[in-house]
Amino acid sequence: MSHADPTAALDRPAAGFAPGWRIDASYRKLPGDFYTLMPAEKVGPGPVLVHANAEAAALLDLDPAVFGDPDFVAAVTGHLPIAGFQPLAMVYSGHQFGNWAGQLGDGRALLVAQVRNARRELWDVQLKGAGMTPYSRMGDGRAVLRSCIREYLCSEAMAGLGIPTTRALALTATREGVRREQVEPGAVLTRLSPSHIRFGHFEHFHHNGRPEMVALLADHVITEHFPDLLGREGRHEAWFRAVVDRTADLIAGWQAVGFAHGVMNTDNMSILGLTMDYGPFGFLDAFDPGFICNHSDHGGRYAFDRQPAVAHWNLHALAVALSSLIPVPVLKEVLGGYEARFAESFAMRMRGKLGLGAPVEGDGALAADLLAVMARGGGADYTLAFRDLATVEEAGGAERWLAHFAEAEAARWLGRYRARLAVEPDPGRAAAMNRVNPKYVLRNWVAESAIRAVQQEGDFAMLDRILVLLQAPFDEHPGFEDYAAPPPAGMQDLSVSCSS
Ligand code: AMP
Ligand code: MG
Repeated sequence: MSHADPTAALDRPAAGFAPGWRIDASYRKLPGDFYTLMPAEKVGPGPVLVHANAEAAALLDLDPAVFGDPDFVAAVTGHLPIAGFQPLAMVYSGHQFGNWAGQLGDGRALLVAQVRNARRELWDVQLKGAGMTPYSRMGDGRAVLRSCIREYLCSEAMAGLGIPTTRALALTATREGVRREQVEPGAVLTRLSPSHIRFGHFEHFHHNGRPEMVALLADHVITEHFPDLLGREGRHEAWFRAVVDRTADLIAGWQAVGFAHGVMNTDNMSILGLTMDYGPFGFLDAFDPGFICNHSDHGGRYAFDRQPAVAHWNLHALAVALSSLIPVPVLKEVLGGYEARFAESFAMRMRGKLGLGAPVEGDGALAADLLAVMARGGGADYTLAFRDLATVEEAGGAERWLAHFAEAEAARWLGRYRARLAVEPDPGRAAAMNRVNPKYVLRNWVAESAIRAVQQEGDFAMLDRILVLLQAPFDEHPGFEDYAAPPPAGMQDLSVSCSS
């Protein structure tokens, strides 16, 4: 690329953590306008490893034996650079709660490596909470242990559910107090992603009147992440279509498992259609379509049932940012396809959740009516009502399933459902349903229990126990059923805010 930084090869730290990675500083092919090169701050007196994740390590061909190496712990806290890569903070802008927020950027995140693994996949290694950057604005560049535990567990839960997401490699405690509503333990989360580029990256350059940078960035993303489109006539249009489709599929995945993101600002929207920037997210317990997980979201802009429409709004903001690159009528036409794509993607997931095979007239209404019945009378438990649906033909199964509901309507719905199943006998149905209806999601009370165990009891092993469930959420885990249960008394309405 013509703007490639000719000094890139000269200033990479040769010393540092060197696990044999093939470093590929792909983001440095973009001009310096896209980032600030800077070392991490070395937050805290000396980090302690809280947890490291073998599944994520495998993405980097990293042997988990390295977790015991002090250099690994130092590297994933920003105390030791990664050999061959000069860390950088990215600049982006975005719309927050529907308003243009201007410049944001990696205020407490730092890209510390880009690694090309043996399968030739590119992975960003990014530290969250490793100190201030030029984009910190009023913030302190820190992250608190509480929210890092939540992101650590949830990104792995989403991966286990098969929903595209950033991953979590490691979590360290900085042993530094961080001031929020009160002083809390600080932490650094190391996350992995094929890219951390957001809708807001494009908005940044568009709204600063720099269309040539929008074009460079689009071609960078296409080259690195949509190589099939390279050299194609109309590649920008095809790429935008792919982004719309991926985003629609992502949100369909969220709605199907009952995940509310909580802060769907355009700066938290991945250009690759990944779930990213876990904050005050929540999985549904009792089904409430208007569930608001973010207690700072007073207007309910990011309520559970608004997510599909908000994603469309965010794609519109992205389309505006691409208007110098793609003709407006084309952008409109592509955006116009979002709703149908979402509906199709969600309907396909609902068919799977209900165990329906070849489409029969009335299937759509059957699925919609189940959701309506689930929402009534205080709400059936979203996860368990679907999970137990696979057992309604077994002895005692119908009674167990009906116990999730307060309403007699559930029994009428069950009658319709059984009649529908009779049309299409399938001995493999229950097993297939159990592969799409998870037993274990990261319920808020489970996350809170993990936080209490780590912070109050120093019980880091609790994270292991929970990760085993979340990384295989469709399996039965005998002895661990308690973690699949709705919130116990006193843990129903735990407050989660943006303050993290
Ligand atoms: P978030 O709500 O975490 O997605 O963050 C929104 C913006 O605020 C991003 O630009 C973050 O980098 C920045 N930010 C959030 N928390 C902090 C912090 N503690 N210090 C510096 N910047 C922050
Ligand atoms: Mg963010």
